[in-house]
Amino acid sequence: MDLVLNEVTNTVHRHETGRPGRQAVCGSMFHVSHDNLRVVRGAEPGGEAASATKCGRCFEDGGSY
Ligand SMILES: [Zn+2]
Repeated sequence: MDLVLNEVTNTVHRHETGRPGRQAVCGSMFHVSHDNLRVVRGAEPGGEAASATKCGRCFEDGGSY
């Protein structure tokens, strides 16, 4: 699974599979400049996605609680 990392907020979103560009499933990337987004590999131990906050709308276990 690919993820989209928002480098400004350090939040990862699920990448919308099959769609071009860096668009998150929740659609929250729409207003974010693509300069601040990067597609990263998911499930990478110790990777950037592992240390970032998960989007609560893209992940059931995301958010802060
Ligand atoms: Zn999201």
